[in-house]
Amino acid sequence: MADLSDIITFLGTAGARFVMIRQFLASGGAWLNLGDTQILLDPGPGSLVQAAKRKLDAAKLDAIILSHRHLDHSGDINVMIEAMTDGGTKKRGMVFAPADALNQDPVILSYLRSYPQSMQILIAGGSYVINDVSFKTPIRHKHPVETYGFIFQTPRHTFSWITDTRYFADLASHYEGDLLIINVVRLKPGAPVDHLSLPEVKSIIEELRPKVAILTHFGMTMWRAKPWEIARKLTEETGITVIAARDGMKFDLAELET
Ligand SMILES: [Zn+2]
Repeated sequence: MADLSDIITFLGTAGARFVMIRQFLASGGAWLNLGDTQILLDPGPGSLVQAAKRKLDAAKLDAIILSHRHLDHSGDINVMIEAMTDGGTKKRGMVFAPADALNQDPVILSYLRSYPQSMQILIAGGSYVINDVSFKTPIRHKHPVETYGFIFQTPRHTFSWITDTRYFADLASHYEGDLLIINVVRLKPGAPVDHLSLPEVKSIIEELRPKVAILTHFGMTMWRAKPWEIARKLTEETGITVIAARDGMKFDLAELET
């Protein structure tokens, strides 16, 4: 079906605590419109507001995926589950989350867990299906809580999302795809060490050589350094198209073919 498209809408580009709590940047996660399938990834604080503002209807979501339980990723997950299930009146949709988001000190409230059609636990090496879209969680990231990145496969495109992690040697090798989206919290390596910094992200992009790389999830040092200027410089240095995500930005994966 030639008229189906894959479009990613950034409902926020804030990374880590300070950019989020001050809302210098929004923190609503990303809305994936993949053909007829709609997926919400990492609904941080303000996800409901950001989605409503952009006329994205949570009652039409097929799934909500949580990379990890930190608040900047999970703040609105409960209200988005309620919205996906039409206030709990319709048993529909799927929720995917690491086990530690559900077990001790859970970020997903118990009373909501019967609302979706299914709740599935993410594991290292896992693969999952949502309609005609599939995704994999190839490896557990190095982050203080259980965290996974993703490789999504639609009938038209493959793209990966490297979420929060400390850098490690074979990280890049797990995330091949035409498009790489990558969380880059820090401008320079250093504390907090559990996040990727720009030089590490540059080496990952050079190793993977995707058609396009999109930077997002900016911490304070990245935000102050103007991510769009950093992206322009990275494009020059690597020869790969690098884009800095902006709040509300839509990326149509058809752009990978041009
Ligand atoms: Zn985190």
